[in-house]
Amino acid sequence: MEIFDYLQKYDYEQLVICQDQTSGLKAVICIHDTTLGPALGGTRMWDYACEEDAIFDALRLARGMTYKNAAAGLNLGGGKTVIIGDSRTQKNEELFRAFGRYVQSLNGRYITAEDVGTTVQDMDWVHLETDFVTGVSSSGASGDPSPMTARGVWRGMKATAMEAYGSDSLSGKTIAIQGLGHVGYYLAKHLHEEGAKLIVTDIHDDLIKRVLDEIGAIAVRPDEIFGVKADIFAPCAMGAVVNDQTISQFKFQIIAGAANNVLKEEHHGDKLHELGILYAPDYVINCGGVINVADELDGYNYDRALKKVEKVYDNVAKVLKIAKEFKIPTSIAADRMAEQRIERIGRIRSNYLS
Ligand code: NAD
Repeated sequence: MEIFDYLQKYDYEQLVICQDQTSGLKAVICIHDTTLGPALGGTRMWDYACEEDAIFDALRLARGMTYKNAAAGLNLGGGKTVIIGDSRTQKNEELFRAFGRYVQSLNGRYITAEDVGTTVQDMDWVHLETDFVTGVSSSGASGDPSPMTARGVWRGMKATAMEAYGSDSLSGKTIAIQGLGHVGYYLAKHLHEEGAKLIVTDIHDDLIKRVLDEIGAIAVRPDEIFGVKADIFAPCAMGAVVNDQTISQFKFQIIAGAANNVLKEEHHGDKLHELGILYAPDYVINCGGVINVADELDGYNYDRALKKVEKVYDNVAKVLKIAKEFKIPTSIAADRMAEQRIERIGRIRSNYLS
C-alpha cells in the first residue's frame, strides 16, 4: 500500500524519517494521534529486512500506542519510533544522541521510552539531547519499564483466568512463554512464584539458560512454541504471532502476553473468538510499562505507579465483559473502549477556552 493512503486510512498525523551519517542513525518516528495529549511510545531497535518493514512497523506500533494510552486512561496520544539496526552490535552513544535531537525537534509532540532492543542506558543517552524521554535512570525517573509491564501482564492474565476458569489462580496452569527478554523474564518469575508450569522459548540460548537456571521451565525450539500443549500462551517477543499459519496449531484456551500487535490482521481476532480462545487484547494487558513511564511526567512515585498497574486486572475484565455483553471478539471490544474515550475527551476539548 502507498504510504499516504495508509496514513489517510488510519488518520495518522506525522511520519518523520531521521538520518544521521556520523552515527549511522536510520530511524522512523511516527505520531498517530494527539487528541488526548502528547504522543508517548517507546523506541524499538530491530534489524529489519527492508526499509518498508521498518516504516510499517512504526506505523502499526504508533497506532497501537494511541489505543493503549487511551484504554489505560492516560492523557497521552500514540506514537512510536523504530531505529533500523542490530541492537546487539550497532549501538553507540552518538546514535542515540542523534536520535534524541530529532525527538527534541518535535518540541514535545512526541515523548519516547524503551522498547524491544533498547535499554535505560540508551534512553540516558537520548536524555542528553532532549527532555522528551522517559524510562531514564536519573533520580526521580522510573527506569526500566519492563518489570511493571510484566506485572500488568500477570495481573491481566489472572483476569482472563477468572473469566475462563472461574478462578484467577494460575497455580498448576501450564503457560507457554515466547520470548524471554526484558518482559518475558519477569513474567516467568511472577508465574513461577504463583505455581504455574512454564514452557519457554527464545531465539537466544543465553536467555533460555537464564530462565532454566534461575526459575525452572521446559524449553522448546522457537518454531515449536505455537503447538505446545499449554493452557495459556504468553507472546512476549515480536508481533503478528497470531496468523493463518499459527492459529491452526493452537491448543491454548487463553492468549495473554506482552507483545504488541499480536494479531497479524484484525480478522485473526474474529478467528480466535470463533475458536473460543480467550484473547486479552495486547494493548490493554501490556500497558503496565507505559503507565509506569507516564507517571514520570508527574514526578515519579513507585507506589502510585504500582497501584495504577494493578488496575490492568480491572481493565482486562472490563474488556472481557463488553465482549461478552455484545457477543463480539475481545479485540473489537477493546477498540470500542479506547475509541469512545478518544471521541468523548476530544469532544469536550472542542469548547473554546479564552
Ligand atoms: P526484548 O527485546 O527484551 O525481548 C524480546 C525477546 O524475544 C528477545 O529475547 C528475543 O530474542 C525474543 N524473540 C524474538 N523473536 C523471537 C522468536 N521468533 N521466537 C522466540 N523468541 C523471540 O523485548 P521486551 O522489552 O521484553 O518486549 C517484548 C514484547 O513486549 C515486545 O513485543 C514489546 O513491544 C512488548 N512490550 C514491551 C514493553 C516493555 O516494557 N518492555 C511494554 C509493552 C509491550
